[in-house]
Amino acid sequence: MTGFRPCIIVTAGKMYYDKRKSFSGYPEKKQKSREERIEYIMASEFLSDLAAGLEPYVPGEQPKDKKYIKLNTNENPYPPSAEVIRAIEEETANLRLYPDPDATAVRTAAAEYYNDTLNLAGTDRLTEDNIFVGNGSDEVLAFLFPTFFKGKKIAFADITYSFYPVYAALFEVSYDLLPLKEDFSLDMEQYCGGLAGDIRGILICNPNAPTGRALPLADVERILDANSGRLVVVDEAYVDFGAETAAGVVNRHENLVVTQTLSKSRQLAGMRVGIAIASAPLIAGLNAVKNSFNSYTADRLAIAAAAAAFRDREYFETTKRKIMETRELVTKEFRKLGFDVLPSAANFLFVEPVGISAADLFGKLRERGILVRYFPKPRIDRRLRITVGTQEEMDALMASVREILKEC
Ligand code: PMP
Repeated sequence: MTGFRPCIIVTAGKMYYDKRKSFSGYPEKKQKSREERIEYIMASEFLSDLAAGLEPYVPGEQPKDKKYIKLNTNENPYPPSAEVIRAIEEETANLRLYPDPDATAVRTAAAEYYNDTLNLAGTDRLTEDNIFVGNGSDEVLAFLFPTFFKGKKIAFADITYSFYPVYAALFEVSYDLLPLKEDFSLDMEQYCGGLAGDIRGILICNPNAPTGRALPLADVERILDANSGRLVVVDEAYVDFGAETAAGVVNRHENLVVTQTLSKSRQLAGMRVGIAIASAPLIAGLNAVKNSFNSYTADRLAIAAAAAAFRDREYFETTKRKIMETRELVTKEFRKLGFDVLPSAANFLFVEPVGISAADLFGKLRERGILVRYFPKPRIDRRLRITVGTQEEMDALMASVREILKEC
């Protein structure tokens, strides 16, 4: 057994590092019954303590066994626009060459999109210097940690995007969890004057995941003003589905970074493009860190696709509207069944079933070929997060839910 140490054990999806055991033998104490689905993984003794102790983020399942109606990872049910496909095809001729390390085409297209759609004028107008491009907004979020938070303490909600604590662990950033209120809304009093003095940064997901609840821009600005000495990150992965973006006020607030993705409202989850929008000095800091790590985080096809997606506003508006309409219809359907549905400004619903537990409904839907997301965590384990798909997919979902409830 030399050369390896038993250190990572997966218990029903939870990973931990058994620091007491090293280099030989199976960790008997941690050994549980087969039913508890413990997997034993051999890990190299050469791993750093940091790597060996990580609890990586677990993304929603991308199944390979059969075709499912996939309502578990908040992907867009519609294909990318024809303009995007054309841009990708044209760019393939240039793949011999490295991409533009500054992803200028995306920065120009994103700035133009916001200047036009938010009618930005004067110093509010965005330029390329206000935009940073990364390999998905997950990577953009990751870059924020060494750029702004290294050695500092930050704060975020107890129920929010579960990647935040994972980045905090990877980049050795400490954090406080701020409990959401009973109705999953954020406690404005706490965020405006009630935070511990040593907190240097705040992460807010707006609309929040997995709840779908949105914070109005006026409240975001109140938080920014009340925390002028703290960097505030607003993760707007789902903002296009009905919330207000803070992209138009980044030049008014030196402490604001907005992150967005092209994975949801712009159909490019498979391309991996995300952006940060902020005042120029903050973007310069992000670029310094990125260029100390990998000059080419966005590849040629991703740059071409993302720029075209920002330019094709008609397709973006049409598909976004369809998803929002479907969301409202499905909300009504669930409510007719007595389910509690949180008001959603995102492309997913966070529902609490009646007559069946969330865990059972999750399993029975899966058996019928429909994947949704269940988080077995305190406060949210009675709910399912369900991505809004096409109307046909949602009709199939509702038909299955009704069938399952009849059987209960
Ligand atoms: N933020 C939130 C809140 C998300 O749900 C996701 C998607 N899992 C992301 C960021 C990252 O999206 P991507 O890396 O595809 O841009």
